[in-house]
Amino acid sequence: MKRIPVEIKRKEKIVMVGNGMAGHKFCEKFIKYNLHKKYDLFIYGEEQHPAYDRINLSSSLCDGGFDKLYLASLPWYSEKKITFRKGEKITRIRPASKEITASSGQTDTYDKLILATGSSPFVPNIESIGLKGVFVYRNIADLQNIKAYLPDCRRAIIAGGGILGMEAARALLSENIDVTVVEIASRVMARQLDETASAMLLRQMQDLGINILLNKRIKSLQGDNKLNRVLFDDGDIIETDLIIFSAGIIPRDELAREAGLKIGPTGGVIVNDQTLTSDPNIYAIGECALMQNKIWGFAPPCYEMADVLAARLSGIFKVFLGDVQYSKLKIMEVELFTLGDSAIHDDSLLTFTQIDNERNIYRKVLISRDGKKLVGAILMGDISGYAHLLQILRNRGRITEQPEQVIKRLHDKNASIIDTFPDSTRICFCEEITKAELLTAIKQHNVSSISELKKFSKAGSGCESCICVVEELLNEYLLKENVQNQFSEKSL
Ligand SMILES: Cc1cc2nc3c(=O)[nH]c(=O)nc-3n(C[C@H](O)[C@H](O)[C@H](O)COP(=O)(O)OP(=O)(O)OC[C@H]3O[C@@H](n4cnc5c(N)ncnc54)[C@H](O)[C@@H]3O)c2cc1C
Repeated sequence: MKRIPVEIKRKEKIVMVGNGMAGHKFCEKFIKYNLHKKYDLFIYGEEQHPAYDRINLSSSLCDGGFDKLYLASLPWYSEKKITFRKGEKITRIRPASKEITASSGQTDTYDKLILATGSSPFVPNIESIGLKGVFVYRNIADLQNIKAYLPDCRRAIIAGGGILGMEAARALLSENIDVTVVEIASRVMARQLDETASAMLLRQMQDLGINILLNKRIKSLQGDNKLNRVLFDDGDIIETDLIIFSAGIIPRDELAREAGLKIGPTGGVIVNDQTLTSDPNIYAIGECALMQNKIWGFAPPCYEMADVLAARLSGIFKVFLGDVQYSKLKIMEVELFTLGDSAIHDDSLLTFTQIDNERNIYRKVLISRDGKKLVGAILMGDISGYAHLLQILRNRGRITEQPEQVIKRLHDKNASIIDTFPDSTRICFCEEITKAELLTAIKQHNVSSISELKKFSKAGSGCESCICVVEELLNEYLLKENVQNQFSEKSL
């Protein structure tokens, strides 16, 4: 009998450089799209940890419990048949021979390469930056180094009055450190806040015990081996034991740059809307990627890139859509949420504000002149209703009521807009879950609590910005069910 030769197709090898938040999302999507049938996945991560939740790093400075941030355990990778090499930095890629080199000197080959190298904190070119006591704030090792240095410290400077600078300052205050934030601009969180909100935040931070200095440019760091003074352009000198730079990010594009891939004029690996770089076998996702001409420096769009790439590798056509800009300050005592073009002052927009100086409450909603489109918002002191605004802007900003109603509704605890959204509305942007999918999960699993809904649908398990709306959807559903059951009981 003649045997018919069966062609066994070799699995292709995907190598991913970087195992941060975008990289981990790619692993999850790799599993979701059954990519293991076509590919073997190898990950090289320079950090000594499995992927972890970078968003909540600050919360771990005080207790030092970094393991609770882990997004996966080490055995998880082998269970999922993913090879993860931790503590291995990739130092070179050679696109022509599809090879990479690790810091250990080992080389490896790939069929497809994914760059998920994130970004690093921007540190200005200042004299004596190499002194002891100079830190950045990006990963677990940075926080461990800061923590180890703290016992010798009484005073700290945070260079940068942006959102991360504020969070870092609050974390150090909890360690009984005398903290001063120095900001080059004339207000804090200048990219997100207008003058009123910025002045209010400054006051609140000062009330907590954090000193803030504006219009301050650092000239040099001084000390003998160890930092002990910071000199400013205006001649001022502040004595300090440590400084943390938190003045923006720069994409880690060094590997791609050296390999001759196309890089944006101010950095970032240029990718198309399917995450492909200028090399047909190399993709880039997350903060190292220059997608639609911009670096997306927050989690949901990084997750979306991971999803788009995994879909593409599985043969499903998806393109990157992006997310709206928003921020939520993670400081217990200060409620602050900003959305869209929140800092702009534009007379051609309708601006609605509410202010209560005594209670430190400020709300501002910006709407297009024709009253049909939400443009941006600042909520301070009481951020009730923030998830509604986020949801509206994420769904093209369309306003279905009188524009002045938008701000009035915010603090109305009974207000709900979930009914006004069509079933196809995307509610969770990290996991790409629509209203219809959430309703299906609720019905299928007889869900009665938010934790159950999170478990069964995964909604709200990423950046958590959608959690209020997810909760509202569940409550509305349960309420309707309840009313319906009571009605059926009565009619029996
Ligand atoms: C303190 C802090 C608070 C934040 N808060 C929020 C928030 O509230 N909301 C929000 O949406 N976003 C927040 N972010 C931003 C969010 O964490 C990032 O958008 C997200 O982590 C980007 O994911 P990434 O995978 O692109 O990069 P990263 O998570 O930085 O991962 C990149 C990984 O690649 C590794 N790597 C780099 N080069 C190499 C190499 N050559 N070889 C091997 N490994 C390499 C790095 O060590 C790192 O582990 C915050 C960030 C920080 C630092």
